[in-house]
Amino acid sequence: MSEFDIRDNELENSDKEFERKLRPLNFSDFSGQKKIVDNLEIFVQAARMRSETLDHVLLHGPPGLGKTTLANIIANELGVNLKLTSGPVLDKPGDLAGLLTNLEEGDVLFIDEIHRLSPVVEEYLYSAMEDYTIDIMIDKGAAARSVQLTLNPFTLIGATTRSGLLTSPLRARFGINSHLEYYDTDILSKIITRSASILKVKITSQASVEIASRSRGTPRIANALLRRVRDFAQVKGNGTIDMDITLYGLDALNIDKSGLDEMDNKILTTIINKFKGGPVGISTIATAIGEDPGTLEEVYEPFLVKEGFIHRTPRGREVTDFAYKHLKINRATGNTLFD
Ligand code: ADP
Repeated sequence: MSEFDIRDNELENSDKEFERKLRPLNFSDFSGQKKIVDNLEIFVQAARMRSETLDHVLLHGPPGLGKTTLANIIANELGVNLKLTSGPVLDKPGDLAGLLTNLEEGDVLFIDEIHRLSPVVEEYLYSAMEDYTIDIMIDKGAAARSVQLTLNPFTLIGATTRSGLLTSPLRARFGINSHLEYYDTDILSKIITRSASILKVKITSQASVEIASRSRGTPRIANALLRRVRDFAQVKGNGTIDMDITLYGLDALNIDKSGLDEMDNKILTTIINKFKGGPVGISTIATAIGEDPGTLEEVYEPFLVKEGFIHRTPRGREVTDFAYKHLKINRATGNTLFD
C-alpha cells in the first residue's frame, strides 16, 4: 500500500485550502487544454457582449484535471456568483429547489459528480435547465398543490469523471460539452513552476520537469508532489527544490518513475500474472481487481493507454512490452528482472 495516495477525491481540509490557493482565477493562468479554453473564452465573451446567460456546460474527464477550476474561472470571467454542490449531496428535489431559487440572474451553479444525481433530482433539473422553471408543492394534505416557479436564468456547469453514466436526456441539455485530457510534462512543469512561485519556494527547471513527469498527467498530483518535495527541501536541504532533493523526496515517497499509482500498477500486474499479459476483456480485469468496469474504462485506463502501457485490441486489453519493462518482468518467463 502506498503511503501517498493523492488521487483520492476525498480531500482533507488542509488539502482543500492548499488547492484553493493554487487555483487559477483567469483563463490566462490556466495552462493546457488549449482547445477547450479557447472555445470557452469565446462563449464567455459572446455571452457577456449580448448580456445573456452562458449555455449550460458539461466538463468531463478524470479527477484532478481542472474541472472545478474551470467552473471557478468561468464564473469569475462572467463576473457572476458561483454556487458549488455535488450529485450525492442533493438528496431530494427540495435540496435542489433551495439552491435554484437562490441564484441571481446569470449565476453559475456547479454540480460536481453530476452522474451521481438521483433519478428524481435529475428529472427535476430538466425544466430548470430548459426553461428556468420548477414545480414546487405548496400546502399540505387535501390542499396540497403544485405551482410553477420561474427562476432567474442561470448557467449549470456539470462535472463528471464518468460521462458514460450520464443519461441521454441530461447530456442533451448541455449546450457546451468538453472533455479534459491528461496534461503533458511540459505543461505540468509550467503549472509546477507557477505553484512554486505562489508558495514562494525556489525550484530549478530540471526539478519541475522531474516532478511533472511523475504526476500521472494530472495537475492535482503535480501540486501535491510539489508540496511534499518542498517539505524535503526545507528539512533535508537548503529550501530550494533542486534535482537532488527532488529525487531523494520522490524516492522516499515511493513515487513511481512513470507517474503510475498503486491502482495502475495493480491493473498491469493483474493482466500479466492472471491473464498472461492479455488480451483480456475489461469486465474480466475489473472482476479480478475488484473495481467497477466503467470506472476502470473511464478513469484508469485512458492514462495507461495514452502512456503506452496498455493496448486496446478487438479481443480485449493487452499489456505492452513497455509495461513489462517498467515492471521489470521478463515477458517470456514471467520472472522478475533485476537491475
Ligand atoms: P477536478 O475538478 O477536475 O477534479 P480541480 O479543478 O479541482 O480538478 O484541480 C485540481 C488542482 O489542480 C487545483 O488545485 C488546480 O489549481 C490545479 N489545476 C488543475 N488544472 C490546472 C491548470 N490547467 N493550470 C493550473 N492549475 C491547474
